[in-house]
Amino acid sequence: MFARTMASPATPILAQIIPIRRCNLSCTYCNEYDKHSPPVPLDEMSRRIDKLCKLGTGIITFSGGEPTLHPDLDLLIQRAREGDAIVTIITNGYLLTPDRIKRLNAAGLDYLQISIDNVQPDEVSKKSLKVLDRKLQWLAEYADFDITINSVLGSDIRHPEDAFRIAARARELGFTSTVGVLHDGSGQLKALSPVQSDVYDRILKLRSGLFSFVHHDGFQRNIVQGLPNQWHCPAGGRFLYVCEDGLVHYCSQQRGYPAIPLARYTREDILRESAKPKGCAPFCTISCVHQTAMLDSFRTQPRAALNGIIERRKERDPGWHPPLSVRALEWMFLRDSPARSVFISLASQLFGLKQERRVLSAVESKSR
Ligand code: SF4
Ligand code: SF4
Repeated sequence: MFARTMASPATPILAQIIPIRRCNLSCTYCNEYDKHSPPVPLDEMSRRIDKLCKLGTGIITFSGGEPTLHPDLDLLIQRAREGDAIVTIITNGYLLTPDRIKRLNAAGLDYLQISIDNVQPDEVSKKSLKVLDRKLQWLAEYADFDITINSVLGSDIRHPEDAFRIAARARELGFTSTVGVLHDGSGQLKALSPVQSDVYDRILKLRSGLFSFVHHDGFQRNIVQGLPNQWHCPAGGRFLYVCEDGLVHYCSQQRGYPAIPLARYTREDILRESAKPKGCAPFCTISCVHQTAMLDSFRTQPRAALNGIIERRKERDPGWHPPLSVRALEWMFLRDSPARSVFISLASQLFGLKQERRVLSAVESKSR
C-alpha cells in the first residue's frame, strides 16, 4: 500500500466512506450521525468501493454513523479487500459478539478502531469501558485483525483520568491505544486544560509504535497546547471523505466542499483539491488527515520528513530510542549503504512486486 500510494500524488492514501449515517448511540458532542437514515444499498456501495479501488486508494475505512448497522458490512469489507485496499472500520463496538467478530475475520478486515470516552456511561457518552469491556475481551480472544482503542480528551469529557485508564486497559489486552482531542463542530481545536494535558502526556508514555510516534510528534503536541500547526491539508485528494449520498467531501467536519459525486471524481479533481489551501488547517484536530499529510511528505521529501520527526522527538525526550519500525525507515532513507540496495531488490523480488520495485528504486534515488 505504501509503495502504491507513494507512486503518484493523484492516488488517495486514505478514504473514509459512510455505509450508513444512522447510529445506535447519541453522543452529545457528535455531528456525524442521525437516527433515521437507511443503509446505502449494497449495489451502490459496491460501485463506490470499486471506484475508490480504481483510483488506487490505499486504505478504505468504513465509519458512520455506526457501520456495523449496515446489514452487508461483511460483503463491503470483502469487496474492498478484493480491490487490494487495506480495510478498516471505526465502530462504537456495541453490536460486537463472538460470532460478529468471526464474520469480520472471514471478510478479511485488517483493522478495527473503537473510541471509548469514559469509564462509566454518562449523559455525554455511553461509549464507556464498563459497557464495552466484555466486547474488548471478545476481541482479544477472537479477532484476527488489529485493534486500536482510542480514548478521548476534551472539554466535554468529565473525568480526564478516564482516558488513561482506558489506554492502560487497551495495552493490557494487547491492543494499540491512541488518544484523540475533541474538536468542535468544524473540526477545530478546543485547547486542553493543564489536568488534561498531564493525562495526555502519561498516555503518550504508554506508546511506542510508528504511528503513535508520528501522530503525537509535532501536530499533536501543538494541538494539546492550543497552538496552530503549519501544514498543508491534502483533503479532497490524498484523503477523501465519501458521504452516504456518494459525494466526496474534504473530511467529516468540512462537508459540502467540494461535494462532487465520487462516480465522477477524477485524478484532476484529486490533484486540484489536494493542492488547495484550507483555511481551517492551523487549528484542525482531524488526526487521520494529519497522518495522511505526514505520509505524503515522505513522498515529496523522504529524508527531510523523517529527519525532522526524529530530531523533534529526540529534542523532547533525549533518552528516547526509536522503535524498530522507525529504525527500519531510518536505515532505508537516511543511511547510504550497499546493503540497503540489495535489501530493497531482494524484498521486491521475493514478493514479485514489479511496480513497487520501480517505486522503491525511485524513492531510493530521490533520497540520495
Ligand atoms: S457512537 Fe460514534 S457516530 Fe454514534 S453518536 Fe457516538 S460518536 Fe457519533
Ligand atoms: S484542515 Fe483539512 S482535515 Fe482539517 S478540518 Fe480542514 S479540511 Fe478537514
